[in-house]
Amino acid sequence: MGEKLRRADWLAAMLVTGGGVFLSLAATPGPAVYWGLTWSIFNGLSLAIRIPGTCFITRVLILVLNLVLIAGWQLKSGWPSATSLPLLLFLPVLVPLYREQRQEILAGLVGGLILGGYSTLKENLADPSSWAILGGWVAIAGFFYYLMLGLVAKARQAASLQVEVEYTRHEYQKACERLAAMEMAAITDDLTGTYNYRYFEQAFGNLLNSRQQPRTLAVLMLDIDYFKEINDAYGHLTGNRVLAELATILKKCTREQDIVTRFGGEEFAIILPDTDYHGALQLAERIRQAIAGHTFQVEGTAIHITVSAGVAVWPVDGEDKNDIIARADRALYQAKITGRNSVCAYQFLKTERGVHE
Ligand code: GH3
Ligand code: MG
Ligand code: MG
Repeated sequence: MGEKLRRADWLAAMLVTGGGVFLSLAATPGPAVYWGLTWSIFNGLSLAIRIPGTCFITRVLILVLNLVLIAGWQLKSGWPSATSLPLLLFLPVLVPLYREQRQEILAGLVGGLILGGYSTLKENLADPSSWAILGGWVAIAGFFYYLMLGLVAKARQAASLQVEVEYTRHEYQKACERLAAMEMAAITDDLTGTYNYRYFEQAFGNLLNSRQQPRTLAVLMLDIDYFKEINDAYGHLTGNRVLAELATILKKCTREQDIVTRFGGEEFAIILPDTDYHGALQLAERIRQAIAGHTFQVEGTAIHITVSAGVAVWPVDGEDKNDIIARADRALYQAKITGRNSVCAYQFLKTERGVHE
Protein backbone atom coordinates (compact mmCIF):
# COMPACT_ATOMS: atom_id res chain seq x y z
CA MET A 1 0.00 0.00 0.00
CA GLY A 2 2.86 2.39 0.80
CA GLU A 3 4.08 2.39 -2.79
CA LYS A 4 0.58 3.06 -4.16
CA LEU A 5 0.08 5.98 -1.79
CA ARG A 6 3.44 7.45 -2.74
CA ARG A 7 2.47 7.31 -6.39
CA ALA A 8 -0.91 8.89 -5.53
CA ASP A 9 0.94 11.70 -3.69
CA TRP A 10 3.11 12.45 -6.70
CA LEU A 11 0.19 12.33 -9.09
CA ALA A 12 -1.87 14.64 -6.86
CA ALA A 13 1.12 17.01 -6.50
CA MET A 14 1.53 17.21 -10.27
CA LEU A 15 -2.20 17.72 -10.83
CA VAL A 16 -2.48 20.40 -8.16
CA THR A 17 0.60 22.28 -9.38
CA GLY A 18 -0.21 21.92 -13.09
CA GLY A 19 -3.90 22.81 -12.65
CA GLY A 20 -3.09 25.71 -10.32
CA VAL A 21 -0.44 27.12 -12.66
CA PHE A 22 -2.80 26.85 -15.61
CA LEU A 23 -5.68 28.56 -13.83
CA SER A 24 -3.55 31.30 -12.30
CA LEU A 25 -1.94 32.12 -15.64
CA ALA A 26 -5.42 32.29 -17.15
CA ALA A 27 -6.54 34.63 -14.39
CA THR A 28 -5.59 38.16 -15.26
CA PRO A 29 -4.99 40.75 -13.85
CA GLY A 30 -1.40 40.29 -12.64
CA PRO A 31 -1.84 40.10 -8.84
CA ALA A 32 -4.23 37.15 -9.16
CA VAL A 33 -1.52 35.26 -11.05
CA TYR A 34 0.87 35.62 -8.09
CA TRP A 35 -1.76 34.46 -5.61
CA GLY A 36 -2.61 31.51 -7.82
CA LEU A 37 1.01 30.56 -8.42
CA THR A 38 1.76 30.75 -4.70
CA TRP A 39 -1.25 28.57 -3.99
CA SER A 40 -0.27 25.93 -6.57
CA ILE A 41 3.37 25.81 -5.56
CA PHE A 42 2.55 25.66 -1.87
CA ASN A 43 0.06 22.83 -2.28
CA GLY A 44 2.11 21.00 -4.88
CA LEU A 45 5.11 21.04 -2.56
CA SER A 46 2.97 20.05 0.43
CA LEU A 47 1.80 17.00 -1.43
CA ALA A 48 5.17 16.12 -2.90
CA ILE A 49 6.99 16.22 0.42
CA ARG A 50 3.89 15.01 2.25
CA ILE A 51 3.69 17.44 5.12
CA PRO A 52 2.55 15.04 7.82
CA GLY A 53 -0.02 17.39 9.32
CA THR A 54 -0.19 15.34 12.49
CA CYS A 55 0.38 18.34 14.69
CA PHE A 56 -2.88 20.24 15.16
CA ILE A 57 -1.25 23.66 14.74
CA THR A 58 0.37 22.58 11.44
CA ARG A 59 -2.97 21.33 10.17
CA VAL A 60 -4.77 24.54 11.09
CA LEU A 61 -1.97 26.63 9.56
CA ILE A 62 -2.12 24.69 6.29
CA LEU A 63 -5.86 25.18 6.11
CA VAL A 64 -5.74 28.87 6.98
CA LEU A 65 -2.96 29.47 4.47
CA ASN A 66 -4.96 27.66 1.81
CA LEU A 67 -8.05 29.72 2.53
CA VAL A 68 -6.10 32.99 2.54
CA LEU A 69 -4.44 32.17 -0.78
CA ILE A 70 -7.73 31.10 -2.35
CA ALA A 71 -9.52 34.19 -1.03
CA GLY A 72 -6.72 36.44 -2.34
CA TRP A 73 -6.84 34.71 -5.68
CA GLN A 74 -10.60 35.07 -5.81
CA LEU A 75 -10.63 38.74 -4.83
CA LYS A 76 -7.75 39.76 -7.10
CA SER A 77 -8.92 37.94 -10.20
CA GLY A 78 -12.48 39.18 -10.05
CA TRP A 79 -13.63 36.07 -11.91
CA PRO A 80 -17.21 35.16 -12.16
CA SER A 81 -17.73 33.36 -8.88
CA ALA A 82 -19.50 30.35 -10.31
CA THR A 83 -16.40 29.48 -12.34
CA SER A 84 -13.89 29.82 -9.55
CA LEU A 85 -16.02 27.98 -7.04
CA PRO A 86 -14.87 24.50 -8.15
CA LEU A 87 -11.32 25.63 -7.48
CA LEU A 88 -12.27 26.50 -3.90
CA LEU A 89 -13.86 23.13 -3.50
CA PHE A 90 -10.70 21.53 -4.79
CA LEU A 91 -9.00 22.61 -1.59
CA PRO A 92 -10.08 19.70 0.63
CA VAL A 93 -9.41 17.16 -2.11
CA LEU A 94 -5.72 17.12 -1.27
CA VAL A 95 -6.12 13.49 -0.37
CA PRO A 96 -2.73 12.53 0.98
CA LEU A 97 -2.25 15.78 2.85
CA TYR A 98 -5.50 15.36 4.70
CA ARG A 99 -5.61 11.62 4.62
CA GLU A 100 -7.59 10.20 7.48
CA GLN A 101 -8.28 13.70 8.83
CA ARG A 102 -12.01 14.19 8.46
CA GLN A 103 -12.13 17.48 10.34
CA GLU A 104 -9.73 19.07 7.87
CA ILE A 105 -11.67 17.76 4.89
CA LEU A 106 -14.88 19.14 6.34
CA ALA A 107 -13.27 22.43 7.37
CA GLY A 108 -11.80 22.84 3.88
CA LEU A 109 -15.15 22.16 2.22
CA VAL A 110 -17.05 24.48 4.52
CA GLY A 111 -14.37 27.20 4.14
CA GLY A 112 -14.45 26.80 0.36
CA LEU A 113 -18.25 26.95 0.31
CA ILE A 114 -18.40 30.05 2.49
CA LEU A 115 -15.87 31.82 0.29
CA GLY A 116 -17.56 30.67 -2.90
CA GLY A 117 -21.01 31.45 -1.51
CA TYR A 118 -19.93 34.92 -0.52
CA SER A 119 -18.50 35.67 -3.99
CA THR A 120 -21.47 34.12 -5.75
CA LEU A 121 -24.10 35.94 -3.79
CA LYS A 122 -22.50 39.25 -2.81
CA GLU A 123 -23.88 41.11 -5.80
CA ASN A 124 -26.64 38.81 -6.96
CA LEU A 125 -28.56 38.05 -3.82
CA ALA A 126 -31.86 38.33 -5.64
CA ASP A 127 -30.78 36.20 -8.60
CA PRO A 128 -32.19 32.68 -8.22
CA SER A 129 -29.59 31.24 -10.59
CA SER A 130 -26.83 32.26 -8.14
CA TRP A 131 -28.62 30.29 -5.43
CA ALA A 132 -29.02 27.38 -7.81
CA ILE A 133 -25.29 27.41 -8.56
CA LEU A 134 -24.50 27.56 -4.86
CA GLY A 135 -26.91 24.70 -4.13
CA GLY A 136 -25.27 22.63 -6.87
CA TRP A 137 -21.85 23.19 -5.43
CA VAL A 138 -23.03 22.35 -1.92
CA ALA A 139 -24.25 19.03 -3.28
CA ILE A 140 -20.94 18.44 -5.05
CA ALA A 141 -19.06 19.34 -1.87
CA GLY A 142 -21.17 16.79 0.01
CA PHE A 143 -20.36 14.22 -2.64
CA PHE A 144 -16.65 14.97 -2.29
CA TYR A 145 -16.88 14.65 1.46
CA TYR A 146 -18.47 11.21 1.29
CA LEU A 147 -16.02 10.18 -1.42
CA MET A 148 -13.18 11.16 0.89
CA LEU A 149 -14.69 9.23 3.75
CA GLY A 150 -14.97 6.17 1.52
CA LEU A 151 -11.39 6.50 0.37
CA VAL A 152 -10.21 6.94 3.92
CA ALA A 153 -12.17 3.90 5.07
CA LYS A 154 -10.73 1.84 2.21
CA ALA A 155 -7.20 2.99 2.95
CA ARG A 156 -7.71 2.09 6.60
CA GLN A 157 -9.18 -1.28 5.71
CA ALA A 158 -6.33 -2.05 3.32
CA ALA A 159 -3.78 -1.04 5.95
CA SER A 160 -5.39 -3.18 8.64
CA LEU A 161 -5.73 -6.10 6.23
CA GLN A 162 -2.06 -5.83 5.40
CA VAL A 163 -1.19 -5.83 9.09
CA GLU A 164 -3.36 -8.90 9.54
CA VAL A 165 -1.75 -10.66 6.58
CA GLU A 166 1.72 -9.89 7.95
CA TYR A 167 0.71 -11.13 11.38
CA THR A 168 -0.81 -14.33 9.99
CA ARG A 169 2.26 -14.96 7.82
CA HIS A 170 4.50 -14.45 10.83
CA GLU A 171 2.37 -16.80 12.95
CA TYR A 172 2.35 -19.39 10.16
CA GLN A 173 6.11 -19.21 9.91
CA LYS A 174 6.45 -19.63 13.66
CA ALA A 175 4.04 -22.60 13.60
CA CYS A 176 6.06 -24.20 10.77
CA GLU A 177 9.27 -23.73 12.72
CA ARG A 178 7.64 -25.18 15.85
CA LEU A 179 6.33 -28.13 13.86
CA ALA A 180 9.75 -28.73 12.29
CA ALA A 181 11.36 -28.59 15.74
CA MET A 182 8.77 -31.03 17.11
CA GLU A 183 9.24 -33.36 14.16
CA MET A 184 12.98 -33.23 14.67
CA ALA A 185 12.61 -33.87 18.42
CA ALA A 186 10.42 -36.89 17.68
CA ILE A 187 13.20 -38.56 15.70
CA THR A 188 16.19 -37.40 17.72
CA ASP A 189 17.80 -39.03 20.70
CA ASP A 190 18.08 -36.44 23.48
CA LEU A 191 21.27 -37.71 25.03
CA THR A 192 23.43 -38.17 21.96
CA GLY A 193 21.81 -35.97 19.33
CA THR A 194 21.78 -38.88 16.88
CA TYR A 195 18.56 -40.20 15.35
CA ASN A 196 16.49 -42.56 17.48
CA TYR A 197 15.14 -46.05 16.88
CA ARG A 198 11.88 -44.68 15.47
CA TYR A 199 13.79 -42.85 12.74
CA PHE A 200 15.99 -45.86 12.09
CA GLU A 201 12.93 -47.96 11.31
CA GLN A 202 11.34 -45.23 9.24
CA ALA A 203 14.47 -44.33 7.26
CA PHE A 204 15.37 -47.95 6.61
CA GLY A 205 11.86 -48.73 5.34
CA ASN A 206 11.78 -45.57 3.21
CA LEU A 207 15.11 -46.36 1.60
CA LEU A 208 14.08 -49.88 0.65
CA ASN A 209 10.70 -48.78 -0.65
CA SER A 210 11.80 -45.63 -2.42
CA ARG A 211 11.89 -45.27 -6.19
CA GLN A 212 15.56 -44.42 -6.00
CA GLN A 213 16.26 -47.56 -4.09
CA PRO A 214 19.98 -47.85 -3.35
CA ARG A 215 21.94 -50.52 -5.20
CA THR A 216 23.02 -51.97 -1.92
CA LEU A 217 22.76 -50.91 1.70
CA ALA A 218 24.75 -51.91 4.76
CA VAL A 219 23.71 -51.89 8.40
CA LEU A 220 26.28 -51.59 11.12
CA MET A 221 25.37 -52.51 14.70
CA LEU A 222 27.66 -51.31 17.45
CA ASP A 223 27.63 -52.10 21.13
CA ILE A 224 29.99 -50.78 23.79
CA ASP A 225 32.00 -53.49 25.48
CA TYR A 226 31.50 -53.87 29.23
CA PHE A 227 29.70 -50.60 29.49
CA LYS A 228 28.07 -51.64 32.71
CA GLU A 229 31.51 -51.55 34.29
CA ILE A 230 31.95 -47.93 33.22
CA ASN A 231 28.66 -47.06 34.88
CA ASP A 232 29.56 -48.98 37.98
CA ALA A 233 33.00 -47.41 38.22
CA TYR A 234 32.23 -43.79 37.35
CA GLY A 235 28.50 -43.45 37.73
CA HIS A 236 25.61 -43.26 35.33
CA LEU A 237 26.10 -39.58 34.51
CA THR A 238 29.68 -40.18 33.43
CA GLY A 239 28.39 -43.07 31.36
CA ASN A 240 25.97 -40.69 29.70
CA ARG A 241 28.77 -38.29 28.76
CA VAL A 242 30.75 -41.16 27.27
CA LEU A 243 27.72 -42.12 25.17
CA ALA A 244 27.35 -38.54 23.91
CA GLU A 245 31.02 -38.29 23.00
CA LEU A 246 30.94 -41.65 21.31
CA ALA A 247 28.07 -40.42 19.14
CA THR A 248 30.24 -37.48 18.07
CA ILE A 249 32.96 -39.87 16.95
CA LEU A 250 30.42 -41.93 14.99
CA LYS A 251 29.16 -38.82 13.20
CA LYS A 252 32.69 -37.73 12.41
CA CYS A 253 33.60 -41.11 10.92
CA THR A 254 30.51 -41.35 8.69
CA ARG A 255 29.34 -39.56 5.55
CA GLU A 256 26.48 -37.13 5.39
CA GLN A 257 24.08 -39.64 3.85
CA ASP A 258 24.80 -42.26 6.51
CA ILE A 259 22.15 -42.46 9.21
CA VAL A 260 23.60 -42.75 12.71
CA THR A 261 21.04 -43.83 15.28
CA ARG A 262 21.00 -44.81 18.90
CA PHE A 263 19.33 -48.15 18.71
CA GLY A 264 18.83 -48.33 22.45
CA GLY A 265 20.94 -48.25 25.63
CA GLU A 266 24.59 -48.33 24.65
CA GLU A 267 23.88 -49.78 21.24
CA PHE A 268 24.10 -47.82 17.98
CA ALA A 269 23.02 -48.72 14.45
CA ILE A 270 24.25 -47.01 11.31
CA ILE A 271 22.53 -47.27 7.94
CA LEU A 272 25.01 -46.92 5.09
CA PRO A 273 23.20 -46.35 1.78
CA ASP A 274 24.96 -47.49 -1.40
CA THR A 275 27.61 -49.31 0.58
CA ASP A 276 28.73 -52.89 -0.02
CA TYR A 277 30.50 -55.26 2.31
CA HIS A 278 33.90 -53.93 1.44
CA GLY A 279 32.98 -50.32 2.28
CA ALA A 280 30.97 -51.24 5.38
CA LEU A 281 33.72 -53.37 6.89
CA GLN A 282 36.28 -50.67 6.21
CA LEU A 283 34.14 -48.11 7.96
CA ALA A 284 33.35 -50.44 10.88
CA GLU A 285 37.05 -51.07 11.38
CA ARG A 286 37.81 -47.36 11.19
CA ILE A 287 35.18 -46.67 13.85
CA ARG A 288 36.39 -49.48 16.06
CA GLN A 289 39.95 -48.16 15.92
CA ALA A 290 38.90 -44.55 16.43
CA ILE A 291 37.01 -45.47 19.59
CA ALA A 292 39.68 -47.80 20.94
CA GLY A 293 42.27 -45.06 20.44
CA HIS A 294 40.18 -42.30 21.93
CA THR A 295 40.51 -41.04 25.48
CA PHE A 296 37.16 -39.95 26.91
CA GLN A 297 37.83 -37.13 29.33
CA VAL A 298 34.98 -36.85 31.78
CA GLU A 299 35.49 -34.46 34.69
CA GLY A 300 39.21 -35.08 34.80
CA THR A 301 38.88 -38.84 34.46
CA ALA A 302 40.41 -40.51 31.44
CA ILE A 303 38.22 -43.36 30.26
CA HIS A 304 38.94 -45.87 27.52
CA ILE A 305 36.31 -48.04 25.92
CA THR A 306 36.05 -50.42 23.02
CA VAL A 307 33.14 -51.43 20.82
CA SER A 308 32.09 -54.54 19.00
CA ALA A 309 30.37 -54.30 15.62
CA GLY A 310 28.28 -56.51 13.37
CA VAL A 311 27.67 -55.87 9.67
CA ALA A 312 24.92 -57.14 7.36
CA VAL A 313 24.25 -56.00 3.81
CA TRP A 314 21.02 -55.73 1.85
CA PRO A 315 20.13 -57.48 -0.41
CA VAL A 316 22.87 -60.12 -0.15
CA ASP A 317 22.03 -61.06 3.46
CA GLY A 318 18.26 -60.75 3.13
CA GLU A 319 15.51 -59.00 1.22
CA ASP A 320 13.64 -57.77 4.22
CA LYS A 321 14.40 -54.94 6.65
CA ASN A 322 13.89 -57.11 9.72
CA ASP A 323 16.12 -59.86 8.29
CA ILE A 324 18.96 -57.40 7.84
CA ILE A 325 18.57 -55.99 11.36
CA ALA A 326 18.48 -59.47 12.87
CA ARG A 327 21.54 -60.52 10.87
CA ALA A 328 23.59 -57.46 11.78
CA ASP A 329 22.64 -58.19 15.39
CA ARG A 330 23.68 -61.80 14.95
CA ALA A 331 27.06 -60.66 13.60
CA LEU A 332 27.42 -58.29 16.55
CA TYR A 333 26.73 -61.12 18.93
CA GLN A 334 29.43 -63.11 17.19
CA ALA A 335 31.88 -60.20 17.60
CA LYS A 336 31.05 -60.21 21.32
CA ILE A 337 31.55 -63.87 21.86
CA THR A 338 34.78 -63.95 19.93
CA GLY A 339 36.46 -61.51 22.30
CA ARG A 340 34.90 -58.04 21.77
CA ASN A 341 36.68 -54.97 20.36
CA SER A 342 36.17 -56.49 16.94
CA VAL A 343 34.07 -56.35 13.78
CA CYS A 344 32.15 -59.30 12.38
CA ALA A 345 30.37 -59.66 9.01
CA TYR A 346 27.25 -61.77 8.75
CA GLN A 347 28.54 -62.98 5.38
CA PHE A 348 31.62 -64.28 7.12
CA LEU A 349 29.47 -66.21 9.60
CA LYS A 350 27.51 -67.77 6.76
CA THR A 351 30.50 -68.92 4.78
CA GLU A 352 33.03 -69.71 7.47
CA ARG A 353 30.85 -71.08 10.22
CA GLY A 354 27.77 -72.20 8.40
CA VAL A 355 25.40 -70.02 10.38
CA HIS A 356 21.86 -70.00 9.00
CA GLU A 357 18.94 -68.07 10.37
P1 GH3 B 1 28.80 -56.18 26.76
O1 GH3 B 1 27.93 -55.34 25.89
O2 GH3 B 1 30.23 -56.08 26.39
O3 GH3 B 1 28.34 -57.59 26.81
O4 GH3 B 1 28.71 -55.64 28.23
P2 GH3 B 1 27.84 -54.47 28.73
O5 GH3 B 1 28.13 -54.21 30.15
O6 GH3 B 1 27.97 -53.28 27.85
O7 GH3 B 1 26.41 -55.01 28.44
P3 GH3 B 1 25.11 -55.05 29.23
O8 GH3 B 1 23.99 -55.20 28.25
O9 GH3 B 1 25.20 -56.04 30.33
O10 GH3 B 1 24.97 -53.61 29.84
C1 GH3 B 1 24.70 -52.50 29.13
C2 GH3 B 1 24.80 -51.38 30.07
O11 GH3 B 1 24.58 -50.15 29.43
C3 GH3 B 1 23.83 -51.49 31.19
C4 GH3 B 1 23.22 -50.13 31.31
O12 GH3 B 1 23.36 -49.62 32.61
C5 GH3 B 1 24.05 -49.30 30.38
N1 GH3 B 1 23.23 -48.31 29.75
C6 GH3 B 1 22.21 -48.49 28.89
N2 GH3 B 1 21.68 -47.31 28.56
C7 GH3 B 1 22.40 -46.36 29.22
C8 GH3 B 1 22.33 -44.95 29.28
O13 GH3 B 1 21.50 -44.29 28.67
N3 GH3 B 1 23.21 -44.31 30.06
C9 GH3 B 1 24.15 -44.98 30.77
N4 GH3 B 1 25.01 -44.30 31.51
N5 GH3 B 1 24.24 -46.31 30.73
C10 GH3 B 1 23.37 -46.99 29.97
MG1 MG C 1 27.47 -53.48 25.82
MG1 MG D 1 24.00 -53.74 24.93
